[in-house]
Amino acid sequence: MPSVIPAVAEVEQRIDRVVETVAAKRPMLQSVVKPFADLYREKARLLCSLRAESNAPALEGFGSRLDDGAPLLSSLSLGILEPALSRAFTALMPALKTGFPAMAGDFDRILAAHGRGGLDLMTLADACLGRTVKPHSDRPDEPPAVGFVIHTVLSAVLQALAPSLGAQIQENAWHHGFCPICGSLPAISYLSKAEPLGSEYLVGGGGQRYLHCLLCGHDWRVHRNLCAVCEKEDTEMKMYFTVPEEPGERIDVCHHCHHYLPCIDLRETDTLPHLDTACVSLVHLDMLAQEKGYHPMVPMPWNTFQ
Ligand SMILES: [Zn+2]
Ligand SMILES: [Zn+2]
Repeated sequence: MPSVIPAVAEVEQRIDRVVETVAAKRPMLQSVVKPFADLYREKARLLCSLRAESNAPALEGFGSRLDDGAPLLSSLSLGILEPALSRAFTALMPALKTGFPAMAGDFDRILAAHGRGGLDLMTLADACLGRTVKPHSDRPDEPPAVGFVIHTVLSAVLQALAPSLGAQIQENAWHHGFCPICGSLPAISYLSKAEPLGSEYLVGGGGQRYLHCLLCGHDWRVHRNLCAVCEKEDTEMKMYFTVPEEPGERIDVCHHCHHYLPCIDLRETDTLPHLDTACVSLVHLDMLAQEKGYHPMVPMPWNTFQ
């Protein structure tokens, strides 16, 4: 399931379906979802050309790192990704400026810094991957928009590489809560659909749990009750928030570390939605969980409430 590369048109259809669902069921969230949907459409088009030029074969042989519990990219020098990062930055900044006018001033400052060589995309990407101390902890004057920009740009580059890297990861080779490719925590999970087992009378129950990485786009299967942050499995304490009219959408919470993760039950839906857009479309559940004192695993602009 995770390694198939969908065509741009198919990705756009999946995005459109999430947007249509929000318009029909939660119209008050349309203004939150639309800018991200537009950005992800732009990113899908960029991914197509980045994939054509990506140098993933140079990364072959990293698979053995997984046995030590280290994500594939943990020892990679990002230097080989520099041209792609630069290209993604140039391609996506106009979409960010159009979609998020409230941050336009920050984006202009970021563009100006990049223009005079004062924005080190490599160092910021390293920090985004959690491999170095976040630069903005040393620079209190740096706008929070920098983190959003770098996440967007790096995710385009990694999502171009991830399908070929994901193909090197054997199913069941990884049981951690963080991504086997880039090491990020998941932003959403889903329970798989029932799948036919070769006979019209034999149908698998589905419900296997996958975690989805918002940064590199990889999906990986984990034990049903695993908390991705503290990696505890506690069936007794399992709890979730949901709204009665949407039984296929919920938020799982962990009582040990007080983090939460949105979950889509694909047994309750027609097709696999675009998961990055679906994350944004569940923001009403983010609010519910945060009101109860739980924290998102991946803080993003839509789930960081003032
Ligand atoms: Zn990842
Ligand atoms: Zn936990």
